[in-house]
Amino acid sequence: MQAFFAYLYSLNLISLFLLFLVENAAIALMAVLLGFTFDGLLTEMKRLISLKEIYWTFATIFFNTLVTLAGYLLFKYGFIVFHLESDLLNILIDFVVLIFAMDLLMYVFHRAIHKMSFVYRYHDLHHAYDTPTAISLFVLHPIEVMGFGSLWLMLLFAVDFSIYAVMLYLVFNVAMGIIGHLRKEIVPKAVKYNVCFQWLANTGFHVDHHQHEQHNFGFYTKVWDRLFGTLK
Ligand SMILES: [Zn+2]
Ligand SMILES: [Zn+2]
Repeated sequence: MQAFFAYLYSLNLISLFLLFLVENAAIALMAVLLGFTFDGLLTEMKRLISLKEIYWTFATIFFNTLVTLAGYLLFKYGFIVFHLESDLLNILIDFVVLIFAMDLLMYVFHRAIHKMSFVYRYHDLHHAYDTPTAISLFVLHPIEVMGFGSLWLMLLFAVDFSIYAVMLYLVFNVAMGIIGHLRKEIVPKAVKYNVCFQWLANTGFHVDHHQHEQHNFGFYTKVWDRLFGTLK
């Protein structure tokens, strides 16, 4: 890990921007391909994906790159601190804390967006889809991308986490984004009513939010929707 950071320190701003741009583009491409493969729609991608979706996906990749670059610079200049050496238990604790903290922050932020018409008009772009596909995950207004990105950076500024927990969380975040924007339910029927899925988000949970906008504001869990009475 130290060698990786030493490599990043050796790069100038333009090289860092390009590196993070490639990283964010690769994540988006992989997410879209995985989602369409899972839905069995890979051969129909050309018909299903519109130019508008491609345009907004490029914009989201660009603004996600700015958030990544800002996070890196905050880390480089000591405003964000990561634990580089943690044992497995601490990594797992940090990972769980990150999930619940971000889920709560995003629940509050997302619910507030739906209440305030002057910001909802930006979020409305994402709500153009009743039956989202994996690319809908990236159809977001730059103001929304920067808003969620700022929440993420503020949490990292406020609390020092294990770098490994942060990396795990970032993978988990993309995985949950894909899961929430599929046409097929990812949770098999046989276990759908298991107690775990009374609390954890599944595909139907976020798709229901696209169809019933006053419900299901959480992203990873149903905890906050259950507690605050907004679960569908
Ligand atoms: Zn969505
Ligand atoms: Zn919404």
